[in-house]
Amino acid sequence: MSRKPLIAGNWKLNHLTGPAVETAAALKGMVAGVTGTEIVICPVFTVLDAVGTAIAGSNIALGGQNCYTKESGAFTGEISPQMLADVGCTWVIIGHSERRQYFGETDALLNEKAKFARASGLKVMFCIGETLEERNGGQMNAVLERQVSKGLEGLSDADFDGLAIAYEPVWAIGTGVVASPEQAQEAHAFVRGLVKKQFSAAIADAVRIQYGGSVKPDNAKELMGKPDVDGFLVGGAALKADSFAAIVKNAL
Ligand code: PEP
Repeated sequence: MSRKPLIAGNWKLNHLTGPAVETAAALKGMVAGVTGTEIVICPVFTVLDAVGTAIAGSNIALGGQNCYTKESGAFTGEISPQMLADVGCTWVIIGHSERRQYFGETDALLNEKAKFARASGLKVMFCIGETLEERNGGQMNAVLERQVSKGLEGLSDADFDGLAIAYEPVWAIGTGVVASPEQAQEAHAFVRGLVKKQFSAAIADAVRIQYGGSVKPDNAKELMGKPDVDGFLVGGAALKADSFAAIVKNAL
């Protein structure tokens, strides 16, 4: 089956309103002619509204970087999927390694978040990936298996209509050390196999698996050439319109 490439930019904790709007507006012009690739940008919450206005009517969708498991209530500092949708988001990133590492987000919490985001109508990019220590210790497959089986537990076929998995080896995130196309392919094929075992062959065949970790314009093409690499989740190189647009175009 041919899967539509999904390329998303995770801006993390960067860009005040001015640079955010400037970046989004520039990107809108640069990718205007791109069809056949789904493009998403995920800015910080405070600029979602302004960025949403800047990309209105374009082929770029808006996403949040995180959300909570409740619609509203006494949960200081949190944001709900409904609030993200209200400001124009159609996507949300769940389970980024920085959320797992710095904010203690567990497989169980991430499972709840993914289910609630899907039930609330948002599409989810669900992140998984091993640390260098885990890879070197021969734990990579076990870690990915745990993150998939617990993180995606109980999701329905319909949930998978709006769910992508982002394989992001922690050792490649923000380090400039990109996984080789072969390493990425091996992990992606393994993850697709896990989805097949846990869900079905049809879901495994359809689910998009993005690669994330030091993707740059000059390594995008080779990575995308691998059969199980269906797009990217890009951090640093997504902060500038020209480098993110070049990744989108080089991946075509
Ligand atoms: C990320 O944060 O998801 C990421 C992949 O970052 P970078 O592209 O900077 O490695």
